[in-house]
Amino acid sequence: MRTRVCITIDTEFSIAGAFSDPALRPVAEPMVTCDVAGRSQGLDFLLATFQRHDIPATFFVEALNRQYFKHDPMAAIARRIHGQGHEVQLHVHPCWSVFRHADWRERVRACPRQDDFFGRDEADTLALIRQGMEAFSDWDLPPPQAFRAGNLQHDDALYQALARSGIRYSSNIGLAVFDSGDPRYALYGGRHERHGVIECPVLTYCDWRLGRRPHLKTLTIAGTSFAEMKTLLEQAHRIGLSLVVILSHPFEYIQSRDQDLRHARRHGIAQRRLTALCQYLDHNRDRYTPSGIAAAAIAVAPDHSVARDRPVAPDHSVAPGHPVAPSRSSSPENPLLEGRLLQSLDRLALQATYACYGQAALLATRGGSR
Ligand SMILES: [Zn+2]
Repeated sequence: MRTRVCITIDTEFSIAGAFSDPALRPVAEPMVTCDVAGRSQGLDFLLATFQRHDIPATFFVEALNRQYFKHDPMAAIARRIHGQGHEVQLHVHPCWSVFRHADWRERVRACPRQDDFFGRDEADTLALIRQGMEAFSDWDLPPPQAFRAGNLQHDDALYQALARSGIRYSSNIGLAVFDSGDPRYALYGGRHERHGVIECPVLTYCDWRLGRRPHLKTLTIAGTSFAEMKTLLEQAHRIGLSLVVILSHPFEYIQSRDQDLRHARRHGIAQRRLTALCQYLDHNRDRYTPSGIAAAAIAVAPDHSVARDRPVAPDHSVAPGHPVAPSRSSSPENPLLEGRLLQSLDRLALQATYACYGQAALLATRGGSR
């Protein structure tokens, strides 16, 4: 069986400190184009890389920002991505909805956690999802089939609201980013049904252990080297894992010291990682099928059981490359894959060095080209 690999790009604008500092303003297109010296090192780099290697990707496009950006600059971005044949799916950050109130500053002061889905009332969550779906309709795009919550926050109310909205697929879970503490959502990867919605979590793996205690990491281009990704993909294929979801953002491909990304430089390491990943997937289509996330979720073989709403016991003791034993988990779709310690150490050292080098280079060229 081929393992489907979904590269997912959360495409979003930024509050950029405006909630806490009245002098700052939210930032739109620069968060997505990520221009350096007049060249887009974010979205254009991504689209060109995917095109070169014939990789269909999924862009989870944030749709509530138009509560603030009344001229709706995300519309053109979403249409452009759709025009290149990638899946455009719905991403929602609830924080943008506060801008519909004239007294938004007071509301943010009274309730700073504007961006939480976790603990939000189901009706309120459903209203936010429907606002996002309306944006897709206004943008003349097909209705979204898949959803990703801001900050990967999730709870029962979110899945119930998604089911009521008619959105059938989701990718709301990345345990190293957000862990609700609910064992039913302790999902490392694969595909799982919750409240009638098929959840395809961003892969969470163990990059090193302290004794038997695993250190968890959610798979992103910014945080995982290509060598580590290759190890994980080979392991996933070996154990018959149907799906690996990878998370990224356009701004991972530049380095900047500013909230508005005005002064930035290309992130060579991140760009080389994505290029190497796409090349690897392109050259190994006998084992992997690069795929949009809805296409992957739909392609569940009839005999391939999707784990239902039963609790899935997290298993932190699984041997590298082996699925969780059925007695510990309701599904072989929920293994905790293991990275290699030396590869993790290599990555940590390289990233620390490159971050320092990048900051020094930005300082040296401050005031120069964008
Ligand atoms: Zn986001």
